Amino acid sequence: SIPLGFFGGIGAASRAGILVKGSNYLEALNDVQYVVFDKTGTLTKGAFAVTGIYPEGQRSKEELLRNAAYAELHSNHPIAESVRAAYGKPIDESRLEDYNEISGHGVEVRFDGQSVLAGNARLMEREGLTFAAPPEAGTIIHMAIGGSYAGYLVISDEVKDDAAEAIRQLKQLGIKRTVMLTGDARAVAESVGRQLGVDEVHAELLPQHKVEQLERLEQQKSAKEKTIFVGDGINDTPVLARADVGIAMGGLGSDAAIEAADIVIMTDEPSKIATAIHIAKQTRRIVW
Ligand code: ADP
Ligand code: MG
Repeated sequence: SIPLGFFGGIGAASRAGILVKGSNYLEALNDVQYVVFDKTGTLTKGAFAVTGIYPEGQRSKEELLRNAAYAELHSNHPIAESVRAAYGKPIDESRLEDYNEISGHGVEVRFDGQSVLAGNARLMEREGLTFAAPPEAGTIIHMAIGGSYAGYLVISDEVKDDAAEAIRQLKQLGIKRTVMLTGDARAVAESVGRQLGVDEVHAELLPQHKVEQLERLEQQKSAKEKTIFVGDGINDTPVLARADVGIAMGGLGSDAAIEAADIVIMTDEPSKIATAIHIAKQTRRIVW
């Protein structure tokens, strides 16, 4: 029979906006020692503001932004939504063809018959395109139009209001280590990690590298110690599935993330991880 306390625990969690898919996950939270976070949309708001537009050559800023907005039309990455919002004009889909999203890199389309790429330095390098390193701090979206380097946009994200508190509470609960994994640039990642007091930061990771980082951690710990991965599901569903307890941000996150996760945080607040562990501990006290 299932102890009543578990229903109490799941109910208490649900009233706090934490959806637990089974009592075994609530129980597993008692043994968590490592909490691994994705950055964008999980510890940060994932709502980027475009803070700079730097076309190369004769193109106007408006033209570079238009190309970026069209390129990002079909992507559900937080970066894409921010670029479309910054452009803010109606989009004529008939001008677009051949949309292709390259995970951990960016997007590739044909717009008005020309090839347009929007993504990170790795995407440009893949195409053999060279460019001067931008002096700006922030996440950079490099652009290529018609096979030539066309300039870049600078976008900046903010940490969530409760992110520092989330890390502090986990330490207070006795968690051994907090880790942040991200596909974003090292400078951005390290700055966020420092602001929040995260123990370990790994940047410029491709989605498959995030799984490898989790596996590395699993080898270092004892069998009883459990790991949580918290993500928004954009590119990280394999990691959500691989962790002992996969936790998805339910508001921002994709349907695939909600599907792959064991626990869903409906309010998107990272501080709810500590709340969930706290409820798990109280539930265990009542049950045993
Ligand atoms: P994170 O780990 O921060 O959630 P992702 O793994 O989703 O990041 O993406 C890693 C990097 O790939 C981003 O920081 C960005 O440089 C690039 N990228 C991914 N998707 C897009 C996109 N739609 N447009 C532009 N760049 C993108
Ligand atoms: Mg992500």
